[in-house]
Amino acid sequence: MLVALSLELFLIQNRQLKHTLMDEYSKPLLEDWEGIVIHSASEFINKKPIRDFLESIKVSAHYFVRPKGVVKQMVPLYRQAKHAGVSRWKGMSNLNKNFIGIEILVEGDNTYEEFLRKIKRPETFTAEQYESTAILCYSMMSKFPTISMDNIVMHSEVSGPDIRPDDPKYDPGEGFDMDLLKSKIKYFTA
Ligand SMILES: [Zn+2]
Repeated sequence: MLVALSLELFLIQNRQLKHTLMDEYSKPLLEDWEGIVIHSASEFINKKPIRDFLESIKVSAHYFVRPKGVVKQMVPLYRQAKHAGVSRWKGMSNLNKNFIGIEILVEGDNTYEEFLRKIKRPETFTAEQYESTAILCYSMMSKFPTISMDNIVMHSEVSGPDIRPDDPKYDPGEGFDMDLLKSKIKYFTA
Protein backbone atom coordinates (compact mmCIF):
# COMPACT_ATOMS: atom_id res chain seq x y z
CA MET A 1 0.00 0.00 0.00
CA LEU A 2 1.13 3.53 -0.72
CA VAL A 3 1.00 4.50 2.94
CA ALA A 4 3.62 1.88 3.67
CA LEU A 5 6.15 3.68 1.47
CA SER A 6 8.82 4.90 3.81
CA LEU A 7 10.13 8.45 3.70
CA GLU A 8 13.55 6.95 3.17
CA LEU A 9 12.35 5.63 -0.16
CA PHE A 10 11.55 9.17 -1.26
CA LEU A 11 15.00 10.14 -0.09
CA ILE A 12 16.69 7.54 -2.29
CA GLN A 13 14.96 9.05 -5.33
CA ASN A 14 16.69 12.33 -4.72
CA ARG A 15 19.34 13.01 -7.36
CA GLN A 16 20.36 16.46 -6.18
CA LEU A 17 20.83 15.60 -2.54
CA LYS A 18 24.46 16.68 -2.49
CA HIS A 19 23.48 20.26 -3.32
CA THR A 20 20.73 20.51 -0.79
CA LEU A 21 23.00 19.25 1.97
CA MET A 22 25.03 22.45 1.63
CA ASP A 23 24.21 25.24 4.08
CA GLU A 24 23.31 27.57 1.19
CA TYR A 25 20.25 25.44 0.41
CA SER A 26 19.33 23.93 3.76
CA LYS A 27 20.51 23.84 7.35
CA PRO A 28 20.87 21.19 10.05
CA LEU A 29 17.69 20.52 12.00
CA LEU A 30 18.11 21.70 15.60
CA GLU A 31 14.55 21.40 16.95
CA ASP A 32 11.67 18.94 16.68
CA TRP A 33 9.34 19.27 13.70
CA GLU A 34 6.21 21.13 14.83
CA GLY A 35 4.27 21.44 11.61
CA ILE A 36 4.06 21.52 7.84
CA VAL A 37 3.74 24.52 5.51
CA ILE A 38 1.76 23.84 2.34
CA HIS A 39 2.95 25.91 -0.64
CA SER A 40 2.20 25.96 -4.33
CA ALA A 41 4.60 26.77 -7.16
CA SER A 42 4.71 26.63 -10.93
CA GLU A 43 6.03 23.31 -12.26
CA PHE A 44 8.44 25.24 -14.52
CA ILE A 45 9.69 28.83 -14.35
CA ASN A 46 11.41 30.26 -17.44
CA LYS A 47 11.68 26.68 -18.79
CA LYS A 48 13.51 25.51 -15.69
CA PRO A 49 12.00 22.76 -13.54
CA ILE A 50 10.94 24.37 -10.25
CA ARG A 51 13.59 22.50 -8.31
CA ASP A 52 16.39 23.93 -10.48
CA PHE A 53 14.79 27.36 -10.32
CA LEU A 54 14.61 27.27 -6.51
CA GLU A 55 18.20 26.07 -6.36
CA SER A 56 19.28 28.99 -8.54
CA ILE A 57 17.84 31.41 -5.98
CA LYS A 58 19.10 29.35 -2.99
CA VAL A 59 15.62 28.32 -1.89
CA SER A 60 14.45 24.77 -1.22
CA ALA A 61 11.55 22.62 -0.05
CA HIS A 62 11.41 19.14 1.41
CA TYR A 63 8.90 17.80 -1.10
CA PHE A 64 7.29 18.56 -4.44
CA VAL A 65 3.94 17.04 -5.39
CA ARG A 66 3.56 16.99 -9.17
CA PRO A 67 0.18 17.38 -10.91
CA LYS A 68 -0.15 13.60 -11.35
CA GLY A 69 0.58 13.08 -7.66
CA VAL A 70 4.19 11.94 -7.97
CA VAL A 71 6.22 13.02 -4.94
CA LYS A 72 9.86 14.10 -5.19
CA GLN A 73 12.13 15.04 -2.35
CA MET A 74 14.69 17.85 -2.41
CA VAL A 75 15.81 18.14 1.22
CA PRO A 76 16.05 15.25 3.71
CA LEU A 77 14.04 15.50 6.93
CA TYR A 78 17.12 15.83 9.10
CA ARG A 79 17.70 19.24 7.49
CA GLN A 80 15.69 22.49 7.50
CA ALA A 81 14.64 23.60 4.02
CA LYS A 82 14.47 27.30 3.01
CA HIS A 83 10.80 27.56 2.09
CA ALA A 84 8.87 29.81 4.47
CA GLY A 85 11.12 32.85 4.91
CA VAL A 86 9.75 35.55 7.23
CA SER A 87 6.81 33.77 8.84
CA ARG A 88 4.81 33.56 12.04
CA TRP A 89 2.35 31.13 13.57
CA LYS A 90 1.04 30.79 17.15
CA GLY A 91 3.96 32.58 18.80
CA MET A 92 6.52 30.81 16.62
CA SER A 93 8.51 32.70 14.00
CA ASN A 94 10.88 31.87 11.15
CA LEU A 95 9.11 28.59 10.65
CA ASN A 96 11.83 27.02 8.51
CA LYS A 97 13.48 25.82 11.69
CA ASN A 98 10.60 23.56 12.71
CA PHE A 99 8.15 23.31 9.80
CA ILE A 100 8.50 20.92 6.87
CA GLY A 101 7.85 22.50 3.43
CA ILE A 102 5.70 20.86 0.74
CA GLU A 103 5.24 22.47 -2.70
CA ILE A 104 2.12 21.53 -4.65
CA LEU A 105 3.05 22.04 -8.30
CA VAL A 106 0.86 23.88 -10.79
CA GLU A 107 1.10 22.35 -14.27
CA GLY A 108 3.09 24.17 -16.93
CA ASP A 109 5.54 27.05 -17.32
CA ASN A 110 3.65 29.95 -15.78
CA THR A 111 4.52 33.61 -15.34
CA TYR A 112 3.95 34.83 -11.80
CA GLU A 113 0.72 36.56 -12.93
CA GLU A 114 -0.56 33.36 -14.58
CA PHE A 115 0.39 31.40 -11.49
CA LEU A 116 -1.49 33.80 -9.19
CA ARG A 117 -4.57 33.53 -11.43
CA LYS A 118 -4.43 29.73 -11.55
CA ILE A 119 -4.09 29.17 -7.79
CA LYS A 120 -7.40 30.95 -7.27
CA ARG A 121 -9.14 28.17 -9.21
CA PRO A 122 -10.00 24.84 -7.52
CA GLU A 123 -9.49 22.86 -10.75
CA THR A 124 -5.78 23.79 -10.70
CA PHE A 125 -5.16 21.22 -7.95
CA THR A 126 -5.67 17.55 -8.82
CA ALA A 127 -7.27 14.71 -6.87
CA GLU A 128 -3.93 12.88 -7.09
CA GLN A 129 -2.18 15.84 -5.43
CA TYR A 130 -4.60 15.85 -2.51
CA GLU A 131 -4.15 12.10 -2.14
CA SER A 132 -0.33 12.15 -2.24
CA THR A 133 -0.06 15.22 -0.02
CA ALA A 134 -2.37 13.63 2.56
CA ILE A 135 -0.27 10.43 2.54
CA LEU A 136 2.90 12.50 2.91
CA CYS A 137 1.48 14.52 5.82
CA TYR A 138 0.20 11.38 7.49
CA SER A 139 3.61 9.67 7.08
CA MET A 140 5.36 12.64 8.63
CA MET A 141 2.89 12.91 11.51
CA SER A 142 3.44 9.20 12.23
CA LYS A 143 7.18 9.60 12.13
CA PHE A 144 7.25 12.90 14.07
CA PRO A 145 4.43 12.91 16.67
CA THR A 146 5.29 16.52 17.63
CA ILE A 147 3.53 17.60 14.39
CA SER A 148 -0.10 18.45 15.12
CA MET A 149 -2.97 18.85 12.68
CA ASP A 150 -3.40 22.50 13.79
CA ASN A 151 0.14 23.16 12.61
CA ILE A 152 -0.49 22.05 9.03
CA VAL A 153 -0.77 25.54 7.57
CA MET A 154 -0.86 27.41 4.30
CA HIS A 155 2.07 29.67 3.44
CA SER A 156 -0.42 32.54 3.03
CA GLU A 157 -1.50 32.09 6.67
CA VAL A 158 2.00 32.40 8.06
CA SER A 159 3.61 34.85 5.60
CA GLY A 160 0.65 36.96 4.48
CA PRO A 161 0.43 40.77 4.10
CA ASP A 162 -0.02 41.25 7.87
CA ILE A 163 3.23 39.43 8.57
CA ARG A 164 5.40 40.57 5.64
CA PRO A 165 3.79 43.58 3.90
CA ASP A 166 6.81 44.06 1.62
CA ASP A 167 6.67 40.53 0.11
CA PRO A 168 3.39 38.81 1.04
CA LYS A 169 2.81 35.18 0.03
CA TYR A 170 -0.52 34.06 -1.46
CA ASP A 171 0.21 30.37 -1.95
CA PRO A 172 -1.08 27.70 -2.04
CA GLY A 173 -4.00 29.93 -3.10
CA GLU A 174 -7.75 30.34 -2.69
CA GLY A 175 -8.30 27.39 -5.03
CA PHE A 176 -6.51 25.00 -2.69
CA ASP A 177 -8.97 23.16 -0.45
CA MET A 178 -7.25 22.86 2.92
CA ASP A 179 -10.35 21.28 4.49
CA LEU A 180 -10.28 18.52 1.87
CA LEU A 181 -6.58 17.87 2.56
CA LYS A 182 -7.17 17.70 6.32
CA SER A 183 -10.17 15.41 5.96
CA LYS A 184 -8.02 13.03 3.91
CA ILE A 185 -5.25 13.11 6.53
CA LYS A 186 -7.84 12.41 9.24
CA TYR A 187 -9.07 9.44 7.23
CA PHE A 188 -5.58 7.87 7.54
CA THR A 189 -5.13 8.80 11.22
CA ALA A 190 -8.58 7.46 12.26
ZN1 LIG B 1 5.18 29.44 -0.46
